[in-house]
Amino acid sequence: MWFRWQSLTLWKRILIAFMLAVALGSLLKVLGLEQVAAGFEPVGRLFINAIRMLMVPIILTTIIAGVTSLKDTSRLGRLGAMTIGLYLLTTAFAVSIGLLMATLIRPGAGISLPEVGGESDLVEAPTLGELLLGLVPENPVAAMVEGNVLQIIVFAILLGLAINLAGEKGAPVKRFFHSAAEVMFKLAHMVMELAPLGVFALIVWVIGELALVELLSLVWIVVTLYAACLLHIALVYGGCIRLLGRLKPQHFFRGIVDAQAVAYSTATSAGTLPVTLANVQRNLGVSKNVSGFVLPLGATMNMDGTAIYMGIAALFTAQALGVELTMTQYLTVVLTSTLASVGAASIPAAGLIVMPIVLSSVGLPLGAIALFFPIDRLMDMMRTMTNVTGDSMVATLVAKAEGELDHEVYDAPAVE
Ligand code: ASP
Repeated sequence: MWFRWQSLTLWKRILIAFMLAVALGSLLKVLGLEQVAAGFEPVGRLFINAIRMLMVPIILTTIIAGVTSLKDTSRLGRLGAMTIGLYLLTTAFAVSIGLLMATLIRPGAGISLPEVGGESDLVEAPTLGELLLGLVPENPVAAMVEGNVLQIIVFAILLGLAINLAGEKGAPVKRFFHSAAEVMFKLAHMVMELAPLGVFALIVWVIGELALVELLSLVWIVVTLYAACLLHIALVYGGCIRLLGRLKPQHFFRGIVDAQAVAYSTATSAGTLPVTLANVQRNLGVSKNVSGFVLPLGATMNMDGTAIYMGIAALFTAQALGVELTMTQYLTVVLTSTLASVGAASIPAAGLIVMPIVLSSVGLPLGAIALFFPIDRLMDMMRTMTNVTGDSMVATLVAKAEGELDHEVYDAPAVE
């Protein structure tokens, strides 16, 4: 039995675990046995810890290995520009889809917003200036200790460039990081064997925790978010893969199932990064150079699901108050949601934390934040899955454009 289970491919094991968890979680919830569901939390946390443990060393080693493999440095600039361009473009589409779905479904109609009084004390949203200044770490070790992904990326790119410039003298350091990157991937592989169990425990626990009363009154916002994210994934990502990449979308989606399941159950795209890297390289044939650069950047700055959430929250608030947004306000929402999603950390509930940036940019009160709090996890899971899918899509397109996509791997009939 155990042997047969282990002989199934990982994504099948994860999906089966996911479905069993939904069944068990729902059963426990119906029977009122939330306590039992809560007992699964430590196992889930153990899995989250294990994948987060990989995050910093993987980002550092893969980026340095990637940068030191690029022979000419001007390619790095081109790669960066293409990546960031695609990230921003898809995010602007994402907010627009969120706004469209919220206009159609009207999740805020008839809802009364709680007063949270003036500015929310939930957050201190960073300004754009702070965001830019914060890119360069004062102390790279501190950046690693704090898990500040953007700062680690900047340090790793600079270190990689310096290794290239040092030529022969830098060669041992280069070899060290290439070898370290390989070792980290082996470790990621080991941790991923825990994924079915981790996903199972997390989903049972989350279902047990669901605040049903709040969920019932806010069911339409959840429906709107899920519909907008799924539409964005199918239309924008599927469309880009087909039209810009001239590749088969079904192969793309099949190749990243593990990453999507882990993103959905853990609600952190930075934490999912090791899995995303492994999927994109092994199942889609994206080179290490491209994925090692594009994915860590995407995990921090590309959050389409989060941007969709921002757009929906703004319209939700306007609908609850019975006010119509003007065209300028719509455009402001698109712009600030894009920026807020870039600034959001890739950790659970980050979307809620940056929401005031968007709401206050168009003068809306912050009551929605308090309202969404009890059911945020359910929406966070979908946002995170969308975020991770978007990163993988851009990595695939950039690899294709750079001639760094192994078509034999991408077109292989099945993912093993
Ligand atoms: N949890 C999301 C992520 O890690 C961010 C969010 O809260 O929207 O991608």
